[in-house]
Amino acid sequence: MFGIFKKIFGSAQGRLLKNHRRLVKKINQAEEALQKLSDEEVKAKTAEFQKRYTQGETLDDLLVEAYAVVKNVCRRMLGNDMHVSGYDQKWDMVPFDVQLLGAIALHHGSIAEMQTGEGKTLTAALPLYLNTLSGKPVHLVTVNDYLAQRDCEWVGVIFRWLNLRVEALTNQTPPHARKDLYMADIIYGTASEFGFDYLRDNSMAQSAEEQSQRGHFYAIVDEVDSILIDEARTPLIISGPTNDSKQMYEVLQKAVEAVVKVQRDYCNKLATEARKILEKLDQIAEGDERKKLNKLQQKEADEAFRNLWLVNKGNPHNKILRRIRENPDLRAEIDKLDIYFYTDANKEERLETLAQLYLIVDEKASEYELTDKGIHYWVESVEGTSENDFTMLDLGHEYALVDAIADLDEQESLERKVALREEDSMRKERSHNLRQMLRAHLLMEKDVDYIVDQGKIIIIDENTGRPQPGRRFSDGLHQSIEAKESVKIQGETQTYATITLQNYFRMYDKLAGMTGTAMTEANEFKEIYKLEVIAIPTHRKCIRADADDEIYMTEREKYNALIKDIQKIHGEGRPILIGTESVEVSEKLSRIMKQNKLPHTVLNAKNHAKEAEIIADAGQPGAITVATNMAGRGTDIKLKEGIAKKGGLHVIGTTRHQSRRIDRQLRGRSARLGDPGTSKFYVSFEDTLMRLFTSPRITIFLQRYRPPEGESVKGKVLNRSIETAQKRIEQRNYTIRKHTLEYDDVMNKQREEIYSFRNEVLHAKDAVPFAEEILEHVCMEMASEYFVSRSVEGGWNPEEYRGWLVTNFPVTFDAKEFDNDYLSIDEIEKMAADKVLEAFKYKLEHQKNAIREMHKTLNPDSTQEVNAESVVSEVSRSLLIRNIDTRWQEHLLHIDHLRTEVSVRSIGQKDPLLEFKHEAFALFDTLSREIKVEIAHALFKFEMMMPEPQLPETQTIDLPRKKKPKPKKTKQEKKLLSPMIDLSMLDLESE
Ligand code: ADP
Ligand code: MG
Repeated sequence: MFGIFKKIFGSAQGRLLKNHRRLVKKINQAEEALQKLSDEEVKAKTAEFQKRYTQGETLDDLLVEAYAVVKNVCRRMLGNDMHVSGYDQKWDMVPFDVQLLGAIALHHGSIAEMQTGEGKTLTAALPLYLNTLSGKPVHLVTVNDYLAQRDCEWVGVIFRWLNLRVEALTNQTPPHARKDLYMADIIYGTASEFGFDYLRDNSMAQSAEEQSQRGHFYAIVDEVDSILIDEARTPLIISGPTNDSKQMYEVLQKAVEAVVKVQRDYCNKLATEARKILEKLDQIAEGDERKKLNKLQQKEADEAFRNLWLVNKGNPHNKILRRIRENPDLRAEIDKLDIYFYTDANKEERLETLAQLYLIVDEKASEYELTDKGIHYWVESVEGTSENDFTMLDLGHEYALVDAIADLDEQESLERKVALREEDSMRKERSHNLRQMLRAHLLMEKDVDYIVDQGKIIIIDENTGRPQPGRRFSDGLHQSIEAKESVKIQGETQTYATITLQNYFRMYDKLAGMTGTAMTEANEFKEIYKLEVIAIPTHRKCIRADADDEIYMTEREKYNALIKDIQKIHGEGRPILIGTESVEVSEKLSRIMKQNKLPHTVLNAKNHAKEAEIIADAGQPGAITVATNMAGRGTDIKLKEGIAKKGGLHVIGTTRHQSRRIDRQLRGRSARLGDPGTSKFYVSFEDTLMRLFTSPRITIFLQRYRPPEGESVKGKVLNRSIETAQKRIEQRNYTIRKHTLEYDDVMNKQREEIYSFRNEVLHAKDAVPFAEEILEHVCMEMASEYFVSRSVEGGWNPEEYRGWLVTNFPVTFDAKEFDNDYLSIDEIEKMAADKVLEAFKYKLEHQKNAIREMHKTLNPDSTQEVNAESVVSEVSRSLLIRNIDTRWQEHLLHIDHLRTEVSVRSIGQKDPLLEFKHEAFALFDTLSREIKVEIAHALFKFEMMMPEPQLPETQTIDLPRKKKPKPKKTKQEKKLLSPMIDLSMLDLESE
């Protein structure tokens, strides 16, 4: 069945490539013709193409000639000196045919899967050139600043030769230089720089001049899997401190610590006792046959296994437990209980058993739950806690109770309700904080997930193993870890603007990507980004020999075998690259190698440039390089002379990664461009992947075939089982990413709406018409609240509407002016709006006069008239923008809260996503109404004032700048001016 699918898939790809190959032929022919031209004539081609484009030829029409030009330019530059990343080099590349193939795929908005070392950097230059002929800017997205700079300097020479402007956008690019930088034809930069600039343009820029980007037309994402899949869960967030923090991490810390400790001790006790019993019954001695037990003994042993199972649920990292689980027989006994307990018939018993714990940890799902025993301990052991910490209020019910109290007057009743609401939000906050605290204590490990450095918690990137200073876990997890490690808890932050990388890239008219590893995620690329993956053949046949995995029972045996392998290959003078899953493993391995006197380099560099240098040296004879899985991505390992003859680079994987893609990535570093090479993965049953995700059948299998100490298990079953586990995790992670996106989609629509309105205001020549439109709208919308239907009791309230108008605007209406049976609602609205608009006009005139007066006073000798119209327009614009921004930020905060809230609700068997959509929509509706009302008020409130007396020479400064009305919320504004930007990580938890 799959065979057939593959054939169809394969042939579709084949057909496509065949088509592309035809184009390649044409490109090569065209390039030959170009060889006869002078440099000047080739340089003139760009202008010619641009002209033809404006005359109606499409980029597709121009592809062959344009690619021929790029190839020809490469040829002309051969031997030219250039300077890249601090090194003098000579240009030595003319695109191969396979690179032309890749380049065609990129132009068509596909993902070109091209192996490491195949020359993707050069490949991208062709579609970049072609697409820039449209006159629109094109973006190339790199994984880090170093590569943006390097690629811009390196293949950028092609564009510079052709008189196009190419720039590198990095973190170092100062804000004031960005607008100009974006004027370039081609820009290399990281995803987060592009993304943040977008957010800044739309949430902070106060005028069109302050916006830097020129739209999103075509982007090629290099190492696209890394950016769109590994980083997809990382939204970009611009945030700043918030005023009203309710967080309680410090308060909760003591109690959480106490419960976690008592649980740990309890589990330790259980495990110790269980071990003693098993030792006594001769069940533990390694390698020995387990002793047959009589009935009574068996019962004792069962009890021990049951306790170990419990420890597994309460403290899966318990050392004794882990030790015991190394023995496959014992491990099988424990895992058997899982199956036993998960049948419905044994549910009661299971709950009873689990009730012995204080907390239940579900390591797989990253969840935990306090048991009644845990809650009891909580209340008893820590002062100031109560059972209420864990119960939520039913507000509807509570309100009804207040209403039922007879002798309460309205004021008192209101106050009580307000108090209830505060209590409710406090409990919600507490329960949220508590969850995060438990997560911090139980699942976040120091030196694995984060490090503590100078009183700060620094995240370790799970993929690169690199510390990420400045990044913070979101949603209170970071604060929870700060509390756990007793360092200063940073203030809660409020989101000013946010977007996921996914949604940022979906804005581009055309998106393309390239990487060595995309096929395993082809489905996701297609579903989420509408990107097809096309596998481009390699320039030379890949002759790497990939060995079968070696699987060991224990980590100890695995490392022993691994070291032997290293010693052997090292002895042959071949270079070795060892990939690890974390910094911790890198360091452990480094220690072992030191003991074995193996010289090596560990690549945990915080510096991409240095990392690139080390990687470049990793092809030296006998070099041993240890790197976390993705460190140094984007720079390839070149073999030094003579190495190829010895067999090339040997790659060792120290475990199977959760994603097959990462494993392929590691393998792909060897045997580039037709070089020889080998690779091998070492796995142990203690690896997280195996511990958590392989099927129980494997355990049973191992029970029968436990190999002698130090020997590995091999077998097709095992290889397949590992792959199945990987696929399962890939699927799960995909679901999580999709889930994040589903939530973000809701926000995305709202964000688009707000940002596009904001942009209209920002770019309009005159902002006053917007103000007028808003006033009209407000009159209309409020009318629809007061006038519902004449036939409904209380559905027609002309006097109240009049009351609302006169209290909110400086207008007067005769009593009962709207109370007229012949007036339709449209007419009433119009009467109201006309008068309000008239009042506004009057107000503006008044302000303009004031401006002129002030101008005269301030510049008595000036003969020039001040442009009061423009001042008033700018004032209105800034008033609108500020109100939009403030309210939008508040909205983001509400949405944040809503998200946590609905996840709690999922217990009530409601679909949290549906609930979220529903309420987010309602909130947005309220938001758009309230923004308008607020703006309407503000429009009548602003007042032009004389500037404070200043030094004589500054007094003549132009009016508009001095005279901006005071925004309503100055605090908010101050924050906006000094926002702190953090890339915070989104929840990694799954539902
Ligand atoms: P990738 O990004 O696909 O891993 P790079 O773009 O970093 O590969 O290029 C890898 C190496 O291959 C570079 O050192 C580059 O000089 C070389 N290379 C790429 N294309 C060509 C070419 N057409 N001719 C000669 N060398 C090339
Ligand atoms: Mg590359």
